[in-house]
Amino acid sequence: MTGNANTNLPKKVDVAIVGAGPVGMTIANFLGARGVSTLVLEQRKELIDYPRGVGMDDECLRSFQALGLADEIAANTTPDQKMRFVTAQGRTLASIEPKTRVFGWPRRNSFIQPMVDAILHAGLDRFDSVTTVMEAEVTAFDDQGDAVFVDVSRRGVTDRVEARWLVGCDGGRSIVRKSLGIGFEGVTDSTRWVVIDLHDDPIGRPGSYLHCVPERPFVSIALPHGKRRVEFMVFDKEKEEALCSQEGVRKLLSRVMPRPKDARVMRSRVYTHNARLARRFQKGRVFIAGDAAHLMPVWQGQGYNSGIRDATNLSWKLAMVARGEASEALLDSYDRERRDHAKAMIDLSVTAGKIFSPTSKTVSWLRDRLGLLMNAIPPVKRYFVEMRFKPMPRYHDGVIMKTTHDKVEGNATGKMFPQPGVFDTAGVRRRLDDILGLDIAILSWGNDPQLFLKPDECARWSKLGTRFFAVVPNTQHRSFQGNILPGTEILGDADGALHEWFADQGGDGSIVFLRPDRFVAGIANPQDIGRVSAALLNAFHAAR
Ligand SMILES: Cc1cc2nc3c(=O)[nH]c(=O)nc-3n(C[C@H](O)[C@H](O)[C@H](O)COP(=O)(O)OP(=O)(O)OC[C@H]3O[C@@H](n4cnc5c(N)ncnc54)[C@H](O)[C@@H]3O)c2cc1C
Repeated sequence: MTGNANTNLPKKVDVAIVGAGPVGMTIANFLGARGVSTLVLEQRKELIDYPRGVGMDDECLRSFQALGLADEIAANTTPDQKMRFVTAQGRTLASIEPKTRVFGWPRRNSFIQPMVDAILHAGLDRFDSVTTVMEAEVTAFDDQGDAVFVDVSRRGVTDRVEARWLVGCDGGRSIVRKSLGIGFEGVTDSTRWVVIDLHDDPIGRPGSYLHCVPERPFVSIALPHGKRRVEFMVFDKEKEEALCSQEGVRKLLSRVMPRPKDARVMRSRVYTHNARLARRFQKGRVFIAGDAAHLMPVWQGQGYNSGIRDATNLSWKLAMVARGEASEALLDSYDRERRDHAKAMIDLSVTAGKIFSPTSKTVSWLRDRLGLLMNAIPPVKRYFVEMRFKPMPRYHDGVIMKTTHDKVEGNATGKMFPQPGVFDTAGVRRRLDDILGLDIAILSWGNDPQLFLKPDECARWSKLGTRFFAVVPNTQHRSFQGNILPGTEILGDADGALHEWFADQGGDGSIVFLRPDRFVAGIANPQDIGRVSAALLNAFHAAR
């Protein structure tokens, strides 16, 4: 339910979320799908609708798929958005155009943030356990050890809500982070950028172009639904009022189109690029996620995507603990798993900005020469084209299988599992995650994983909502003659991708334990599964 300043606030909830930005709403959708009582508190009357995120990755779409919203969201994206860095003379320095579908979705998509945020918002209405209240500002909170008491101000009246956990998804200026006294370290780039969004795309060229022009670097991005974004670097003495005035905008646009007067401006705004990382993402019963926990320059389009990664990581843990399936210690892994990857994304974004936007002609000249040279070396070119520089999340610590020497056990452990097409028991081809659902899944190549687990082990996994799958070659999926115990489903490997994946694991094993966020928790050989199962039940902090 979505309410406003007149809505009665619940007195007590499992999870209170500060902020109805994309991160807060994604967490609330995940929790709603698992029936966890959740309250989203948003200070604004309406969602933010000024220009922000335009680049969405495949991991993010995979998360939205888990929420049952990906198809609706994908209808507001342009898939396989190429990104090209070009010199002042129009020569391509680097082109980024990955074609992979390893996680089930295109790796680079353009989108319009307010449109997708609106879908996330509408998605919350599906859940009786979620209440969203607009015009409700969180002014303070008190973590008393066994619960958090949250002060909510609405039109001058303050109410108190008791929550088992509080999540601050309240953006870069987060009062949750500040109240916890958590440092937010990093640098604020002195450069500012003016962002101009246009209706009826007057440029038309598909893709994203970063024009490395030292006089004034600029960006031109084709957006879905016939829109266009252009961004120009702002110099020190320039003022927002002048740049964003009708005359200022037209002057800037004259650099990229012959008749700026005819362009229909949707909105324009000046931004400063920050790189910041919170010292920690959790303190007691309070968590921070999204921009509240990290800020990064937009060059890799990863602020939004990193926030959705936080949301995906935290919400299944909150759900398992709220439902009594796991103990609270599970929640401690959120900070350990997410912080390092957020840092890697910040570093990548800062580096990309440094390469793209120098205003010194000498530095630009050197960059262009080096870039053109690298572009002529096929392996280097492929490295950029296929976007191999993007740090893929890999957990080295947290809810994963470790050896007795505290090393990650298994080459695939801690990495995201691929999402190929599979045939379900009715013979319908579907995306893997649509069949696996939202809980833990144990998949075995060529056999039923339950055959190798003891009944009490199967029972403990089932108590966590775990589902069991035997993955078989597509040729056998309707004729499989092996042993299948009750409760195990057969999946047909539609294109052979799972066969390849399991073959690549070599001696590591043929039975994989997947976390709800579809990261590999561990991998086992059939006759060694008891050891791995016991260790992972501990890692999940499974309740007895
Ligand atoms: C110009 C620009 C371009 C960008 N491009 C990209 C891109 O291409 N790709 C990408 O991944 N990211 C991009 N980003 C970043 C992306 O927009 C943000 O990372 C993302 O919106 C963060 O989401 P969030 O939910 O963490 O915070 P926000 O969206 O900022 O939401 C925070 C919410 O909390 C509310 N709030 C704050 N305090 C309180 C309080 N005390 N009580 C109640 N409510 C409160 C706010 O009103 C707000 O609605 C871009 C950003 C900008 C500015």
